[in-house]
Amino acid sequence: MANCYLCGIKLIKNKNKSKDHVPPDCIFPVKKPLNLITVPCCIKCNGKFKELDEKMRNHFAILAGDKSQGLGKKSTRELFRNNKKMDEFISNTKLHTSLKDKNGHPGLLYFFDEDEINLWLIRLVKGIYFKKDKTRLENVEFSVKQHPDIKPPSCESFHVEEGLEYCPYFVYKMFTDDKNKNLAHWIFMFYGHLIFQVTVNN
Ligand SMILES: [Zn+2]
Repeated sequence: MANCYLCGIKLIKNKNKSKDHVPPDCIFPVKKPLNLITVPCCIKCNGKFKELDEKMRNHFAILAGDKSQGLGKKSTRELFRNNKKMDEFISNTKLHTSLKDKNGHPGLLYFFDEDEINLWLIRLVKGIYFKKDKTRLENVEFSVKQHPDIKPPSCESFHVEEGLEYCPYFVYKMFTDDKNKNLAHWIFMFYGHLIFQVTVNN
């Protein structure tokens, strides 16, 4: 009997049982890898992420530009069609005070909504952890950084999960802190461009 990897409820076939893709399959191009990671999830939890998954994909792909290999154009089109989505994207883009391009123009920085990005990335950690460990990540503290201050061990490259050979759409690395063995750092990279860090304190 499986339980939902997020809320822990018992899953019953034809009642509340579904599967969640981790990472969500919408971040991949139309021709998706055949064996993406799925984890048992209740219909309620699964439904909660549908809109956020698409929003994240749009924002990631636009920010990654050419590196998203076509997904950026699709996402830009989708955003331009919807004033509310467009306004939200623009309002999170701020001038960088010290970053300047070669012509002296200020650079732009994008700030993800903290609650949203935290929720979204922590769900990724929970999903991959569940897949590997067959248990839910419970009673732990998470902290998320939009701009990681640590680098994964230099001798190792990012891990590409089997089935996620569409590198660089999504790659990740998990490693234990050198100084504090209770801390596990998860580094996620999307489209070879956007990097985030989630630290789990066990
Ligand atoms: Zn659930």
